Amino acid sequence: MKRINVTQSSMPPLEEYVEEIRSLFESKWLTNMGEKHKKFEEKLKEYLQVSNVSLTVNGHMALENIIKALDLKGEIITTPFTFASTTHAIIRCGLKPVFCDINRKDYTIDVDKIEELITEDTCAILPVHVYGNVCNIEAIEEIANKYNLYVIYDAAHTFGEKYKGKSVAAYGDASVFSFHATKVFNTIEGGCIAFKDETMTTILKDIKNFGFSGPEIIRYVGGNAKMNEFQAAMGICNLRHIDCELKKRKNAYEKYREYLCDVKGLKIWEPQRDVEHNYAYMPVVFEDEFGKNRDYIAQILMENNIYARKYFYPITADFQCYNNKFSSCRLEVARDISKRVLTLPLYADIEPDDIERICSVILSTRQ
Ligand SMILES: *Cc1c(COP(=O)(O)O)cnc(C)c1O
Repeated sequence: MKRINVTQSSMPPLEEYVEEIRSLFESKWLTNMGEKHKKFEEKLKEYLQVSNVSLTVNGHMALENIIKALDLKGEIITTPFTFASTTHAIIRCGLKPVFCDINRKDYTIDVDKIEELITEDTCAILPVHVYGNVCNIEAIEEIANKYNLYVIYDAAHTFGEKYKGKSVAAYGDASVFSFHATKVFNTIEGGCIAFKDETMTTILKDIKNFGFSGPEIIRYVGGNAKMNEFQAAMGICNLRHIDCELKKRKNAYEKYREYLCDVKGLKIWEPQRDVEHNYAYMPVVFEDEFGKNRDYIAQILMENNIYARKYFYPITADFQCYNNKFSSCRLEVARDISKRVLTLPLYADIEPDDIERICSVILSTRQ
């Protein structure tokens, strides 16, 4: 039986990539914001329909860099139903994550529970557009305006999406994307910050390069988070094919839907109103009526050489490394969904037959 992983990286044709990196072998300029970096940044601004973008070595450093660049201190309200990176970034920058529960509908931050968590130390809200589900942007904006808080979206799952006809990257003070190999769009590793305030351009540029503002002027305690030329070249190539990749993902989703939409106790991912989706993930939630629990299904799939993932389990608040320091009993929904959700294999080149096999294994567990 063929092994099926949860995802598979999108790649441009080899010749196309070779052609793109040819000039690097001539210039011998491999990193430090060279020709490809500039070109990719321009193409990306156009694609994301934003005026300001800072490219980074990965999505995680993009999160840390925007927190540093805004000079945030104190507490950030966020959700624990996400990848480790979101919470780690807050803590590694010396701030305290204050966890807000998620809603049952789309698993993004429950906007009705944000206000009660605000204290005089709150400086920002960092919600996650989890699985490509766009947060309740209007409500978040209203709260942020009322309490004068920054809004940084972890948009790692929403590359290419539009909300009410406008790029998701254009909402909030900043949106952070990941271009990791496993994401909808990749630069092997990579990421970016799309940001609203143009005056942040310089600090974001300097902070990813050890804080150097000039050869002898070091204005910030920066780290090293630069995207290199080979990553940027991969981005240039992959961006040429993104529309086609997204279409193929949508077809794969529709195929899953055919098999799984009317199954009792199985809640499949559904598109949101007002959103042009990227079909990044195929999360399914196993309710009690299904008869078998998530862990059992995951095990049976694995025995059939199908590697679904428990995104996101455990919730970050319960990570061993935090020693319950930031945990809260108020995270009922996040904990419940986390125990029930399974993310099924979904990528542009997944075969319809593979989807049929995955679904028939899942459905056969009920007998
Ligand atoms: C992938 C991911 C990140 C981190 O991005 P990297 O490019 O892997 O560093 C952050 N947040 C979320 C929600 C992610 O899925």
